[in-house]
Amino acid sequence: KCKTQLDKFLDDLEVSSSTGSGAGAPMLAHRTIARQIQLGTCIGKGRFGEVFIGEWKGEKVAVKIFISRDEKSWSRETEVYQTNMLRHSNLLRWIASDNKDTGTLTQLWLVTEYLPLGSLYDYLEKNTLSTTIGVQMLRSIAHGLSYLHAEVPGVNNQCIKPAIAHRDLKTKNILIKNDMTCAIADLGLAVRYMNGEIDIPENSRGGTVRYLAPEFLDETMVTNRFNSYVNLDIYALALVFWEVARRMEYSLVAWGALPYEPPYFEFVPRDPTIEEMRQCVCVEGHRPTIPDDWKNSGAMIEITRIVQECWANNPNSRHTALNIRCSLDNLKASSKILSQSLNSQESVS
Ligand code: ADP
Ligand code: MG
Ligand code: MG
Repeated sequence: KCKTQLDKFLDDLEVSSSTGSGAGAPMLAHRTIARQIQLGTCIGKGRFGEVFIGEWKGEKVAVKIFISRDEKSWSRETEVYQTNMLRHSNLLRWIASDNKDTGTLTQLWLVTEYLPLGSLYDYLEKNTLSTTIGVQMLRSIAHGLSYLHAEVPGVNNQCIKPAIAHRDLKTKNILIKNDMTCAIADLGLAVRYMNGEIDIPENSRGGTVRYLAPEFLDETMVTNRFNSYVNLDIYALALVFWEVARRMEYSLVAWGALPYEPPYFEFVPRDPTIEEMRQCVCVEGHRPTIPDDWKNSGAMIEITRIVQECWANNPNSRHTALNIRCSLDNLKASSKILSQSLNSQESVS
């Protein structure tokens, strides 16, 4: 694929900043980009910001605008995106952050690559998926998350990339790229772990109520251990996988896919409270229903296994993202072999 003007610009920036042009310098250059962007239509709304399409020298970008009251979330998300080595094809690509004085108030901008297919949530509501595309999506999410979670060590025990826990993983915070793989977005609540220390942001709250793990809901979570946050992500990942799996046409008939529903739709109302979720997940011990058909259908057997092992009550018995990634890589490889042998049977007959 050919690189756009923006890609080239950012690659050059990265090279110049990693060769030590001094702290703050890359940020200034990034701000220059932000100042050259024209805003277009609104494409999304979240808890903190409104997201607009923007245009930089003819290329489309996404601009999330925070109001000044939410400066903490803007600076946190900016800080996390500026983490060394955060670029990965399954993490949304950050381009720039800037503040703009409109005269009466300060707007805080966070500029990222624009993904026209939007969020996984919006996509699943309207579309079903083939098994191949579905597995590909799950795999790409696992790739993004395992990279986020990984600490990359450097020389002299100085780590190059901190381990990062997302803390608000859900289908609304995962975007779809044009090749139908996914990119994890919305790093506003993320926590980092480097050289034995966690940096939990001041305004620290939990993520989205529906996706909160049992240990968070019943307050048994060990809050000063980084791995606790990783385990929360894995639980939320299981719920995301369940949402995607329901939309997969795993059998040869189109009605293999079920209507889109959010996790726990059978048990809790639209905007559940923490207490309602605690009752459902901890007291009654519910988990989203696994359809009987999944238990005897190729890829769905493996996906069901991953999902059930990742939403386990005991946070320490859940898999690591790396482990899930490997299982899905194997699943993809084996389904390739399967479809190849099906094709060769066809050509024989
Ligand atoms: P918040 O922190 O307020 O939740 P998000 O970063 O999650 O904001 O963005 C809100 C919504 O805007 C997303 O759920 C998605 O639908 C849309 N969106 C965000 N960033 C992009 C992007 N880069 N490309 C396309 N849509 C986006
Ligand atoms: Mg969001
Ligand atoms: Mg957010």
